[in-house]
Amino acid sequence: MNDNLFSTFAERMNLRLDKTFIETPEGRDYTYAQALALSSQLAGALQALGVAPGDRVAVQVDKSPEAILLYLACLRMGGVYLPLNTGYTASEIGYFLGDAEPALFVCRPDSLNDAQKIAKETGCPVVETLGTEADGSLMEKAAIAKPFEGVEPRAGDDLAAILYTSGTTGRSKGAMLTHGNLGSNARSLTEAWRFTESDRLIHALPIFHTHGLFVACNVILMAGGSLYFLPRFDADAIIEAMPRGTSLMGVPTFYTRLLQDDRLNADLVANMRLFTSGSAPLTADTHREFEKRTGHAILERYGMTETNMNTSNPYDGDRIAGTVGLPLPGVEVRITDADTHAPVPDGDIGMLEVRGPNVFKGYWRMPEKTREELLEDGFFVTGDLATRDERGYIQIVGRDKDLVISGGFNVYPKEVEQIIDEMEGVVESAVIGVPHPDFGEGVTAVVVPAPGASLSEEQIIGALSDKLARYKQPKRVFFVDSLPRNTMGKVQKNQLRETYKAIYQDG
Ligand code: AMP
Repeated sequence: MNDNLFSTFAERMNLRLDKTFIETPEGRDYTYAQALALSSQLAGALQALGVAPGDRVAVQVDKSPEAILLYLACLRMGGVYLPLNTGYTASEIGYFLGDAEPALFVCRPDSLNDAQKIAKETGCPVVETLGTEADGSLMEKAAIAKPFEGVEPRAGDDLAAILYTSGTTGRSKGAMLTHGNLGSNARSLTEAWRFTESDRLIHALPIFHTHGLFVACNVILMAGGSLYFLPRFDADAIIEAMPRGTSLMGVPTFYTRLLQDDRLNADLVANMRLFTSGSAPLTADTHREFEKRTGHAILERYGMTETNMNTSNPYDGDRIAGTVGLPLPGVEVRITDADTHAPVPDGDIGMLEVRGPNVFKGYWRMPEKTREELLEDGFFVTGDLATRDERGYIQIVGRDKDLVISGGFNVYPKEVEQIIDEMEGVVESAVIGVPHPDFGEGVTAVVVPAPGASLSEEQIIGALSDKLARYKQPKRVFFVDSLPRNTMGKVQKNQLRETYKAIYQDG
């Protein structure tokens, strides 16, 4: 039996050859038949360029339908797809190519010179280009290649992709994902979220990350639906697409920005059946406001590069604001004492660990890191702190490394942020720990005030004094216009810690 994920996709693609798989606003559309055909041309081109099964294909290109077909081509011929964030600089790319040793690097047409230089330095033998208009040398090679119409046999635990984690501390690690990991999660999400061939998913996420690449595209391929591909988040384009869309997968900032637009209302979303959110915490406020405006409760789920998706609020049943729902079928979740890995009682905060067919195989060429985080009993230590309520719903409290330890006491930033966020005149906040001569770390709040609001440091500290134990109260409060976020909407607390690292040093 062939466990290549592409065989599963191909079976489903062949059932609906005339149906649209990907559409773009410019009308650069592909039916399933055309997608199958171009994937075989591209797979043929990869083989002709010397890529063998098991070889990595590193790809740093802008979002386009052809980039997804390259991913499919790579699966099809047994290659290991390695997408790279389009924001990475040449020197960062040097690290990834050196570490992953790909057989081919596909870059943007205008980065060819830099890419060739880095490829030479790192020993990557071939560089090709792919543009956003179906242009570039790889497309030219695909047009004349002998198509590869088969599907390379793969076992379930053979690698399908390597995705480097964003790595806010230390070196970025390559998470090795197998055909079995991706297939099991795509099946499970398709079922849990009721995706069918009638779905037309509005796709505005980047495709170098697990959310936009695997969650969105693999689910649509499993279900036989269509993708409406936007190059990036653009409220106007999304609002224009809603009347013909059925679903939207977003990061929380998609929803906060949509809520700023008066055109968002129940009429606009009459054809939509599902809005999902993940990759960063969705505030309970945004959840409630979205429901009030549209009648839809956003379905929040939780996952990560290493594990695919782990938990989800239910499709039918209560979607509880501020929680990430229940474990997906086949996924085991335990919340443990970070030192002993022994489960803590429900309601206590502990380290979230997961086990299941979705959990990756390990970090590329980092056996020690893998041993630290992927335990012998198969549980993966996510680095996220969480609690579980009596109904089994899980709440993420924050990243382990964002925990503040002040005077020997643990301060969970989210608890402090939630109270600050509820204050009149506050848009949002981030609470961090920075070195403090007496306390080890000093609790510090960085606050975004609403336009026109006049808030002072004393006011915020004063308002918290009867709500939080003294050790949890921020010692300093800073005001900023906006919090630093990455492309997935995650607040970059490491950057904030760097900015404010010296504030307690002079006394
Ligand atoms: P990444 O590997 O880039 O997908 O990042 C995974 C991390 O994003 C997780 O370990 C969590 O810290 C965070 N994350 C993902 N989904 C959620 C969510 N729904 N709520 C809170 N944090 C989330």
